Amino acid sequence: ASVMDGDNVDYDEEMADSFEKSKAKSALEALLDERKKLPIYPYRDELLKAVEEHQVLVIVGETGSGKTTQIPQYLHEAGYTKRGMIACTQPRRVAAMSVAARVSQEMGVKLGHEVGYSIRFEDCTSEKTMLKYMTDGMLLREFLGEPDLASYSVVMVDEAHERTLSTDILFGLVKDISRFRPDLKLLISSATLDAEKFSDYFDSAPIFKIPGRRYPVEINFTKAPEADYLDAAIVTALQIHVTQPPGDILVFLTGQEEIETAEEILKHRTRGLGTKIAELMICPIYANLPTELQSKIFEPTPEGARKVVLATNIAETSLTIDGIKYVIDPGFCKMKSYNPRTGMESLLVTPISKASAMQRAGRSGRTGPGKCFRLYTAYNYHNDLDDNTVPEIQRTNLANVVLTLKSLGIHDLLHFDFMDPPPAEALLKALELLFALSALNKLGELTKVGRRMAEFPLDPMLSKMIVASEKYKCSEDIIAIAAMLSVGNSIFYRPKDKQVHADNARMNFHTGNVGDHVALMKVYNSWKETNYSTQWCYENYIQVRSMKRARDIRDQLAGLLERVEIELTSNSSDLDAIKKSITSGYFPHSARLQKNGSYCTVKHPQTVHIHPSSGLSQVLPRWVVYHELVLTTKEYMRQVTELKPEWLVEIAPHYYQLKDVEDSVSKKMPRGEGRAQSDR
Ligand code: ADP
Ligand code: MG
Repeated sequence: ASVMDGDNVDYDEEMADSFEKSKAKSALEALLDERKKLPIYPYRDELLKAVEEHQVLVIVGETGSGKTTQIPQYLHEAGYTKRGMIACTQPRRVAAMSVAARVSQEMGVKLGHEVGYSIRFEDCTSEKTMLKYMTDGMLLREFLGEPDLASYSVVMVDEAHERTLSTDILFGLVKDISRFRPDLKLLISSATLDAEKFSDYFDSAPIFKIPGRRYPVEINFTKAPEADYLDAAIVTALQIHVTQPPGDILVFLTGQEEIETAEEILKHRTRGLGTKIAELMICPIYANLPTELQSKIFEPTPEGARKVVLATNIAETSLTIDGIKYVIDPGFCKMKSYNPRTGMESLLVTPISKASAMQRAGRSGRTGPGKCFRLYTAYNYHNDLDDNTVPEIQRTNLANVVLTLKSLGIHDLLHFDFMDPPPAEALLKALELLFALSALNKLGELTKVGRRMAEFPLDPMLSKMIVASEKYKCSEDIIAIAAMLSVGNSIFYRPKDKQVHADNARMNFHTGNVGDHVALMKVYNSWKETNYSTQWCYENYIQVRSMKRARDIRDQLAGLLERVEIELTSNSSDLDAIKKSITSGYFPHSARLQKNGSYCTVKHPQTVHIHPSSGLSQVLPRWVVYHELVLTTKEYMRQVTELKPEWLVEIAPHYYQLKDVEDSVSKKMPRGEGRAQSDR
């Protein structure tokens, strides 16, 4: 009987299998029909011919015309993958993941097999992979292991108009290798008409234009400036929902926090609308949104309902969501700004450029006439917005890129073939920092420390902290901290109705005022002790998802430690050792307390404050190191640890002199107290 049962099971499975297959086939056919409707489709053969004839091609086509999803498939169909993989770079990780997922569906293959993606700390590719979507930063790192990109037959630098730092550096590197790899095809694709500039840079490469389909977009400005753009955006979305004909809404916000706030308020207000009003589906999308939720924005809106997508800049050109008819543009985005004089970097909400505003508006007119609601005045638009966004290379810290280029053996950075060179001052600052971190010697050559640091896909200060942990015998503790820092600010959560509980749970990890870095380590270690328990996370108001990601990153960092031959050792009871490792990487980020409770950075005096979320925000230690600065209402230090000033001179004698760390505050105090303070 058991044999019979077995046979039956097999038989049933086969039936089910073929049923699944036919279902899958019709889904594939439907996708094929969709592919054929894309604006790029009629140009398929012409495009392939152009690629055949030219080594470098600049491709311009409006967002949503099918460049990212179709071109790599066309090339694959034409046989290019027989000679090597096709790389397609994206400035944003979410875009790389989401587009790879889409293309694997269109090709009817499992994601990670023939079609995969590679983003920092997450490699979803295999031996089989032929189409590889990746962040521009990851391709940059691949040069370290394979300077001629021998495993690729085509490199498509996509979204070139975004001009991210990594894309700009890639331009120089791929241009260089294209000279001695005549078989390598290079595609530079862009959504805007700034193609001449790309063509000029790539030795007058031909430009292939994909005519877009565009419907008229009605542009509305506000009559007066909005005091609170978030509130204005929410009100506008609700007004559209209640008064306008069907069609989905896309709202551009600046980041995760803002999007979550908007989501909450929208949910709350739509509840009060009553049953006569259609359902409003709220779909957030931002870089840290968990993968399983990312695909929700692409799901078709059910009949009778309306979708409102709350997105960061990612929806400006990287992702195209079909069915958008209304765009709400508050006119801001979050941008990195960097002061090359002080070497300080900060994220801040900044007005967008006219080019961005135009792109945003265009998102409403893809499938029919659209409407764009700009939450700023026409006067603002014409007089206050820059024409174009400044390329990132001109407004960022270059230390990471300089370290990468030095590891690639590119020494003469001033003469690197930049499309737009960075300010010389910023280059010098980067060299100075790398010298201070002992990654470069006086001649600007890579040191052993520098070579080890370059193995880590992290900011140089973070990699220095890791490399330095060897000396303090706490590498295992430090990589846990580094992993937790890399996850970002999504470890703890604080539900509105349980804020007190959440805060208490969080403060448990801060017992003894150990500082934020050590607290992160304690969170990690405690979770590990529970054998990575989900229940434990719930009880402590900690996001399981973030912890799993931290574990994943930690494991990869452990692998890299092995590669640079640093032993995994734990020293978690010696907090000074851990703090000294942190200081070894972050000594340029030191600050001292001032009399009014604010801090002053030591090297380039600037007033900063401890972020209210820090465990030390009420403690106010005299000397601290911080992980990063964020500018909101004030310039805040986020992730702060106390240090002893003498460490600065001990660890970075070439950077700090005794006079820098003399405690001027204590001098003005009664002698005894001053001494007691500095002894602690
Ligand atoms: P371009 O790169 O020219 O901007 P894309 O290739 O990204 O265009 O987009 C082509 C089409 O594929 C669009 O209609 C878009 O909505 C669709 N698309 C892209 N990614 C996804 C996805 N993850 N899910 C569903 N549709 C997608
Ligand atoms: Mg694209």
